[in-house]
Amino acid sequence: MELLARLSTTPGVPGREDRVRDLILKEIEGLFDEVSVDPMGSVIAVRKATASGGADTDNASPTRVMLAAHMDQIGFLVRHVGSDGFLRVHNVGGFDPRNLFARLVNVATEGGDLPGVLNPGGKPVHLANAEERKKVPEITDLLVDLGLPAEQVQAQVKIGDMVTLTQPFTLVGNTAVGQCLDNRVACWLVIESLRKIVAEGATHACEIHAVFTVQEEVGLRGAITSAHTVRPDIGIGIDTTLCVDTPGSPEDQRCTQQGGGAALTVMDGASIGDPRLLADFERVAAAGGIKTQRSILRAGGTDTAGIQRAGGGTRAFTLSVPTRYIHSVTEMVHLDDLHACRDLLAAYLGDVK
Ligand SMILES: [Zn+2]
Repeated sequence: MELLARLSTTPGVPGREDRVRDLILKEIEGLFDEVSVDPMGSVIAVRKATASGGADTDNASPTRVMLAAHMDQIGFLVRHVGSDGFLRVHNVGGFDPRNLFARLVNVATEGGDLPGVLNPGGKPVHLANAEERKKVPEITDLLVDLGLPAEQVQAQVKIGDMVTLTQPFTLVGNTAVGQCLDNRVACWLVIESLRKIVAEGATHACEIHAVFTVQEEVGLRGAITSAHTVRPDIGIGIDTTLCVDTPGSPEDQRCTQQGGGAALTVMDGASIGDPRLLADFERVAAAGGIKTQRSILRAGGTDTAGIQRAGGGTRAFTLSVPTRYIHSVTEMVHLDDLHACRDLLAAYLGDVK
């Protein structure tokens, strides 16, 4: 969990993934045969086949499996540095503004990180009237207060600097809780499934192209471009998915259940998973005694959609981690589901012919 904790607390919003990328590049040393960073900033790490694919496979060109885990998290860029020293922000990725009151934030400037407080402007609760108290602020109403003189703020902070919410990573019961588990759990899963393969001396007939993508939260941008480079035969997007199983949520809208196993996304708002790949994942899971659950996400998409539509089209599927309170800073993932996803991904890669 130490790696997941570091991934969860390293800031990286769309287009500002540098710190997360540096962390991943260090962690994957020795796991791959070739590692490169593409022009947009996605990491493409290739591990060559270590076994023959069998009689019907041309060993000179093994099946290319692309794994996509996005590195970026939802966050903000500084939009305006006020003459009063307060910052205004522009969101990169979809926030629920109801989660954005009274938050500590980090402003990453060229000269170093500054802590700040994020709050809507206007009156405190003691002075607000009944109507004002009901109002949920828009993101344009939010201010970052750095507690510094205006001149100092203006000298150090620039438009475009990254702003992220500050939140520790914590184990809560049988779960991991923190921010941007969407999608650092997937970065963790790719690294840990590869480590498992190496540690167990397991072989794989496919060529693994592990891609840590950029800018997913603003439209799957890194997945689309990196899939054009990789030209995979099979694309597997790995991401979190909704787990709406808390009191007050109708059973038919659960999407997934926490602790119910690795989620196999039949379809979401942007892609329909290849049914043969769904069958492969279920067969591999059954053989390994790994718990899975099927799910359909009505709205929203993942990198899978970007890979599926790249070039002449790719067979693609999504492996998902059930996550409660998604897109808040207390995203919650059950450790059993996380381990089920890791074991399933490792077993699947060993199974591809
Ligand atoms: Zn995601």
